[in-house]
Amino acid sequence: MNYSHLDRPIQFLKGVGPKRADAFARLGITNARDLLYHAPRRYDDASSVESIGSLEVGMDATAIGRIRSKGVIPTRRGLRIFQAVLEDDSGMITVAWPGQPWLDRKLREGDTLLVSGRVKFFHGRQLQPREHIVLERGVDGESAMKSGMIFVSYPASEDVPQWVLRSVFDKNLTEMLTWADDDEYVTPRMQAEYGLPRLEEAFKWLHRPKTIYEAEKARRRLAFDELFFLQLVQAQARRRANEDNPGIEHIRTNELIRPLHQALPFELTTAQGRALREIYNDMSSGRRMNRMLQGDVGTGKTAVAVFAMLLSVEGGRQACLMAPTEILAEQHARGISRMLDPLGVEVTLLTGSLSVRSRREALESISNGSTRIVVGTHALIEEDVAFDELGIVVIDEQHRFGVKQRMAISDREGRIPDVLVMSATPIPRSLAMALYGDLDLSLLDEMPPGRMPVTTSLRSTDHRIAVYDFVRSEIAMGRQAYIVYPLVDDSEKIDLLSAKREFERLSSEVFLQERVGLIHGQLASAEKDSVMREFIAGKIDVLVATTVIEVGIDVPNASVMLIEHAERFGLSQLHQLRGRVGRGTEESHCILVTEPGEHALERLRIFRDTSDGFEVARADLRIRGQGDLLGSQQHGRDPALRFADLLVDEDLLVDAQSEARAIVAEDPELKSADHAAIQAHLEGLYKHRLEMYGVG
Ligand code: ADP
Ligand code: MG
Repeated sequence: MNYSHLDRPIQFLKGVGPKRADAFARLGITNARDLLYHAPRRYDDASSVESIGSLEVGMDATAIGRIRSKGVIPTRRGLRIFQAVLEDDSGMITVAWPGQPWLDRKLREGDTLLVSGRVKFFHGRQLQPREHIVLERGVDGESAMKSGMIFVSYPASEDVPQWVLRSVFDKNLTEMLTWADDDEYVTPRMQAEYGLPRLEEAFKWLHRPKTIYEAEKARRRLAFDELFFLQLVQAQARRRANEDNPGIEHIRTNELIRPLHQALPFELTTAQGRALREIYNDMSSGRRMNRMLQGDVGTGKTAVAVFAMLLSVEGGRQACLMAPTEILAEQHARGISRMLDPLGVEVTLLTGSLSVRSRREALESISNGSTRIVVGTHALIEEDVAFDELGIVVIDEQHRFGVKQRMAISDREGRIPDVLVMSATPIPRSLAMALYGDLDLSLLDEMPPGRMPVTTSLRSTDHRIAVYDFVRSEIAMGRQAYIVYPLVDDSEKIDLLSAKREFERLSSEVFLQERVGLIHGQLASAEKDSVMREFIAGKIDVLVATTVIEVGIDVPNASVMLIEHAERFGLSQLHQLRGRVGRGTEESHCILVTEPGEHALERLRIFRDTSDGFEVARADLRIRGQGDLLGSQQHGRDPALRFADLLVDEDLLVDAQSEARAIVAEDPELKSADHAAIQAHLEGLYKHRLEMYGVG
């Protein structure tokens, strides 16, 4: 990028200098651009700021005034209170900070303060601030009290306090705004189409809004930028993938699809129908399909996937489905066989544990094409499996497979098939778009009719005996139960129950008549599989477990999911665990056990009262914050989204994605003069992202 005034080191801005520059650097501000992006953390609307004269006892108020006098007052109980008298044109009030005598050194007479808190009665009106901000230093504070209608306060530090930031902005903002255009990439067309202000305007509104509405418009513009560049890199990665691997134009004859519709004992839900149309469109176009099918447990993803596989098969190609574990692969193979038997279509199972002979036969039929549908584990990609002509690969439970593995499967000729990823972890559409912007998204947001919802309840540890009695009564009726713990082993660091220890206790003291099993992540996968098989076969009544059981296992006879230390789990994880029961025709129960008075209770109540996985996911996003969720995924090195808020900016994300994809479709390498500014941003600010996606 060419030198821009925005690159000017912070030291050379008015009112900074070399000494303060170091302090600014510690706040993350090294040049003029950083300063412009240093967003206020709080806006106070003057219409919500009360005049001091109008403050009444009992009000929760924000006020602005100048310190007229101040001092530390000792109390009889030894507490020292800092007090100041604040004054504006309408009157005076005492402001008190009990236990903070050191403020006496920080605040001076003449400083202008913004304070918010409750007005109490204490020898007259007294305000005890929850928060205070020094708006101006010293006697020329008139300007803060009179300037504008919105009071802005910044994230500050000990070395760069609020009033310094404010004064540096006062001295430099007008000039910096004239530089902002150097970074502009949004064209007049985009401005009009998406209702975006220019950068110059956005920064003016960010730092000196006349209304809260202006501040919000500024935030949205800068949020759009973040989301646009996120999507742009993903759009390029997506285009690369498609360009190197032209799509298959699958031919739909209905030879198999129609008979399946007729053979199924149910009608597809509206959501399944919509997802299928999206999938058929992708598959019959010349573009390669790269789609994620997302839906809660039980929404009927497998049925959708089977139709997609049949489209490939009736057009003359093979199809395969890849599952994360052997047991899941076997379950899928059985379920899919059941659906396809009436059609006379066979399903071949390929896992690591086949006998040498079965394996040789399977491989043979896969490569000579006599097998049309294959279900397996990652044995499908790791081993030397040669498909004759593979049309589609369906990948179940995407989080267990990396992006690379997703792309690794191909047929004998090296042709890469269409890809459909099925995920049973519902996440809000915006989060999905941010994380998987290189995939298209189909959502199954609707349950087939007639499902019996799982009853969720909260129990305190005081009631454990009663809970065990309940588990016993379910088992007496022939059902099975899971009991989940947050830890495998006892830990010295945290005082939590562990699966191993509790397994000992439960099997020797609590469930004496019942058969108790244990499964956790430290077991080798063959051991895990064998325990799971016993549970599936009904040879275990109570399965003591950790979260290893959260993925996909289908045991319709299990009717109780008991989760100990429920507060230790994220809501989405709890939902995933809850999805392990309620798969049969019997009423099922999810019981969350916590300590009495546990502070996470509010969160758990939300979970108890919400059965929709997408709603649970939104609550999880709200509670945990997007940084946590974005950070744990493949964008580990991405800067957090600072302006964009995935809970509210879904519309912006949709705009950003369609714009990014349109630009990349028209000018893949961003070579045209129109896109020079975009390219400059990518190379300057988003270089690491290009590397991550292998686009650079
Ligand atoms: P998922 O893979 O999303 O967890 P499945 O595809 O395994 O869900 O479907 C769960 C159960 O619901 C299966 O028994 C399936 O036969 C049944 N099912 C799927 N679609 C429908 C539908 N539209 N109406 C009724 N039952 C359905
Ligand atoms: Mg296609």
